[in-house]
Amino acid sequence: MDEFNVYVLGCGSALSMHGRHPSGQIIQYGDIFCLIDCGEGTQSRLNQYGIKPFKIEMIFISHLHGDHVFGLPGLLSSLAHLKRTTPLTVYGPIGIKGFLESIFTYTSQKITYPLSIVENDIDDIKTIWSNDRLEILTFPLNHRVPCNGYLFREIGHSIKLRKEQIEAHALTVDQIKAITRQQDVLVNGKSIPASVFIHPPQPRLSYAYCSDTRYDEKIIRWIGNVSVLFHETTFMNDKEVLANQTGHSTAQQAARIAKMANANCLMTGHFSSRYKDLLPLLDEVKEKFSHAILAEEGKKYKLRSLVNHGLQ
Ligand SMILES: [Zn+2]
Ligand SMILES: [Zn+2]
Repeated sequence: MDEFNVYVLGCGSALSMHGRHPSGQIIQYGDIFCLIDCGEGTQSRLNQYGIKPFKIEMIFISHLHGDHVFGLPGLLSSLAHLKRTTPLTVYGPIGIKGFLESIFTYTSQKITYPLSIVENDIDDIKTIWSNDRLEILTFPLNHRVPCNGYLFREIGHSIKLRKEQIEAHALTVDQIKAITRQQDVLVNGKSIPASVFIHPPQPRLSYAYCSDTRYDEKIIRWIGNVSVLFHETTFMNDKEVLANQTGHSTAQQAARIAKMANANCLMTGHFSSRYKDLLPLLDEVKEKFSHAILAEEGKKYKLRSLVNHGLQ
């Protein structure tokens, strides 16, 4: 199976405080690198954490609030200065194209590599990209401005061979090819099932990104049974009224969504700068949903480990 990892670049909300920064995450699936949201300073944190921005093929922007998008013109401009030649696609809500084009115009920035900007005006879930291993979907969130959630979902199964068994039976290249087609092979006149040489299939993984959003049970139909749910938890429970007014969620509300969606693991984030210590917020989440973690900047989360082994 391909590696399926999330790198947290920014877990804060509007202000950079307490060592936390505005939103940004890298989703790695095998050799595919995607960036979700690009708050101010995302570029520096990519460098800091040793992730090459050239690897990024797709960028997904949730909405046009500054803490999710102010780093994007800088990143796209840097890639031009660095003479990127490979294509890059930016997906986002209506307005993302005008936002970027006006900045490029006013700053006389020429984008010299193939850049596509795709606007999604959605009221239901929609597949926006897929190959034979992964599909990426977008769905609407309930915020103060149009806001798109994203769902990354594994499809199909790649076959992982058991090298020690292949060596022990001294299989030929043709026999290995037969195994990858799940055919049994004949060794010393004895038929051996292909399953002996293949690791058992692992469950398909999925990752949903829900930020920014107020509490809205409507999203459950789209993120049901998700492996890892990233749901914003801007506020602690006593700020429920403020959360609703500002289009955000509390700890308990995120936990309720995770429970109703039957998520395996809940990753919390988009923390308000009013909280220096986040452990009380995590405690509130865990009162309602125990398999929950805080998104921590600079950390790489292996989704398969999170789901298989519980908390790391
Ligand atoms: Zn935000
Ligand atoms: Zn926002």
